[in-house]
Amino acid sequence: MATESELLAKIHELSRPVRIMHVCGTHERTISKFGMRSVLPPEIEVLSGPGCPVCVTPEIEIDRAIALARSGVILTSFGDMMRVPGSNENLLDARSQGADVRMVYSIDDAIAIAEKNPEKKVVFFAIGFETTAPTNAAAILRNLPDNFSVLASHKLTPPALMELVDEINVDAFIAPGHVCTIIGIHPFQPFADMGFPVVVAGFGAKDVLISILMIFEQMSSGKAIVENAYPRAVRDEGNLRAQEMMQQVFDIGDAQWRGLGLIKNSGLTIKKEFEDHDAALIYEDVIERCLPEVSYESATESLCKCANILKGREKPDDCPLFAKRCTPATPVGSCMVSQEGMCYNWYQYRSV
Ligand code: SF4
Repeated sequence: MATESELLAKIHELSRPVRIMHVCGTHERTISKFGMRSVLPPEIEVLSGPGCPVCVTPEIEIDRAIALARSGVILTSFGDMMRVPGSNENLLDARSQGADVRMVYSIDDAIAIAEKNPEKKVVFFAIGFETTAPTNAAAILRNLPDNFSVLASHKLTPPALMELVDEINVDAFIAPGHVCTIIGIHPFQPFADMGFPVVVAGFGAKDVLISILMIFEQMSSGKAIVENAYPRAVRDEGNLRAQEMMQQVFDIGDAQWRGLGLIKNSGLTIKKEFEDHDAALIYEDVIERCLPEVSYESATESLCKCANILKGREKPDDCPLFAKRCTPATPVGSCMVSQEGMCYNWYQYRSV
């Protein structure tokens, strides 16, 4: 097995101008942490696509969660979600003003809170891609407490990438290993059919280097296929049981993505048979009444460049707020909040 240095030498030998997009926050973390962009040949551009679940959760969904929290329910979600900006404020702001907002590590933690507080309504704000949706589906399939519901904000990766493909200028994709453990490699076949080499990659530096080499090999041979460079975790067909649970619990529907707008068939809604635990339905009136009066169409038109960063059009350095007004301690945009966000990683691992 080649070492990282040998792989890098091979990449330098075969190098050609190429723009490669990855679609996973963990890939961005690996690439930033190991300074990979600084050791790759300059004609290889590695871009970050919409692969950070926290980053792509839109303002309106944060506002919905805040509206629920202010209505008197116990609102639970992952720690990263606490600081993601809504249109006017974030969940921590709501908590500081008296709302009962609690950080949890999983839906099971949220269910435990509901069981301990039978006199209260408890809502779990569920975000994430195909990776987190099966866990939440499994929980919904169990016997949930009557006072517990889920505000589902799950997103699907391939439809979003397909929506972008005409407007982004890329030559090949590194597909997200975590997502592919669930959905397998076949949902990325349409990209290969369009002429884009696709390699499913793991999350070590070596995994990323191997995937770049495999992309070069496809390009050299004039092929565009989907290859699995992460077989230790990804089966071509994915995790069939996880897919089955997702299909049992969720319908596929259109979804809003921060910076990308409404994308057809790119989100998951809770099926009617589980409506007793669907917070979007149970609290529909409360949410409508409490949403702030803002134009969500213009919500991303600010100095923050997250919208363009999620499309690989700009880099954090292009943002005038980067490392000045916007830092991990004072995030202005969602890309600076999570360890999977591009701005966060550029800030943490930048040369100063
Ligand atoms: S540095 Fe902050 S304000 Fe600028 S694009 Fe990134 S998240 Fe948005």
